[in-house]
Amino acid sequence: MNTTQICYQRRHLADLGAALRLARAQSSREHGPRAELARHQQQRLEAVVRHAATHSPFYRRHFAETGTLDDGPVQLRRLPVLDKSLLMEHFDELVCDPRLRRDELLDWVGRMTRDQLYLNRYRVMLTSGSSGSPGLFIYDAIGWRSIGSGLARSTTWSGLRPTLPRQRMAFVGAAGPSHIGRQAATLGSGLHRVLALPITLPLPRLVEALNQFQPTYLQAYPSAAMWLVDEQHAGRLRVSPRILVTVAELRTPEMTRRLQEAFEVRPFDLYGTTEGLFGSECEHHQGIHLFEDTTLVENVDPDGQPVPPGQPGARLLVTNLYNLVQPLLRLEVTDVVTLDPNPCPCGRILARMNTIYGRSDDVLSLCARDGGQVAVHPLHFALLTRDPQLREFQVIQDGPLLRVLVVPRHPSSPAAAGSDDGLETRLSHAIAQQLLELGVQDPQVTVERHSELARTAGGKLKLVIADPASRPVRKPTLLRAPD
Ligand SMILES: [Zn+2]
Repeated sequence: MNTTQICYQRRHLADLGAALRLARAQSSREHGPRAELARHQQQRLEAVVRHAATHSPFYRRHFAETGTLDDGPVQLRRLPVLDKSLLMEHFDELVCDPRLRRDELLDWVGRMTRDQLYLNRYRVMLTSGSSGSPGLFIYDAIGWRSIGSGLARSTTWSGLRPTLPRQRMAFVGAAGPSHIGRQAATLGSGLHRVLALPITLPLPRLVEALNQFQPTYLQAYPSAAMWLVDEQHAGRLRVSPRILVTVAELRTPEMTRRLQEAFEVRPFDLYGTTEGLFGSECEHHQGIHLFEDTTLVENVDPDGQPVPPGQPGARLLVTNLYNLVQPLLRLEVTDVVTLDPNPCPCGRILARMNTIYGRSDDVLSLCARDGGQVAVHPLHFALLTRDPQLREFQVIQDGPLLRVLVVPRHPSSPAAAGSDDGLETRLSHAIAQQLLELGVQDPQVTVERHSELARTAGGKLKLVIADPASRPVRKPTLLRAPD
């Protein structure tokens, strides 16, 4: 082992230990009182904002010019809202270590071949972003350990305990080492046996690796989990994980049912963002509890005003309470969610998302019969996941036309490309009918067969790709940056 590898190993063990300790402290706050969680959040917010005011030239200037920061308690609502384009544009002056330069980091992360630390210190992650422009995120040890605590917490909720012999955790997900899912998969190694399989692996090799490993814990993107359902039914995949977890994409009720049927366990849904917001279903599976110990979450409308629980917001504003190298204060995350106004039967006080409609960039805006616009969410296409002939689908908006790309479940069956089994007609009618019921005027739908669908750089399948030209002009928000 060379010095870099020894450094890496030491750091990994320290991260793991610290993440487990942090998770224990969090679970002691889980059942309230809420005031105790609020006290912890305010303490962390003060630490992060005061650190930014001192070490980030971007925030130092902003706070000096606007006077938003005085000697009194830090008030979240007075802090400026940040979006990803601002974050990338002002990257070099926003970070708290002047050695971190956006262009050098983009170059370095592009050449990364394994789990590595920049300057033997920082974790660097990329997000693909709907507009095609990448987001660059940096975590120092403290920030990364808070992500680790979220994962430790979610695996504990799903029932995974360290044992001897060790538990076997398999992850089917991101292909590249710059993706948070791939880096997070390394966190539990040592404590458990970990196998991270890239989604880009040919399906027979994926199946073979899983058969050999026999995971006790299996985590996958819902779209990949559906492939595994088919393989398990066909008898080629023979695994019986005790814990099944999906992450990162929309999972419809139909997908949940099929997973449960194939693997005979109730799947947990995990939510994670590179911005640091994590959450998980508890044992009651009634929505995703957000890990508010490590991030503050505001659900806001298109004007940036708070939305009460029970109503869908337009996006989330996320404040990371532990990232001290790249302060992420009120950063926009384009997820459209509804928070549950009722307490969870588990008694945990953490806010709960009971509906995730998808990213707001994935919401289609179509002309309504009454003259206005109808918002069509990815969940409105759930009827396609119920179709027994389909393996997966993607809806691409092209002006008024919706192109529905479908992959048949049995490519060698009569449903294969070129055959006339009525699949296209049946699906386009069903979708058009659904859109009419939503109030869309003259829906135009075409269905095209494909053998596979394009995925994002992180390997995720986007169910809906909106046409940016058809999106309504966004109302002005609170967004502002220091000049
Ligand atoms: Zn609960």
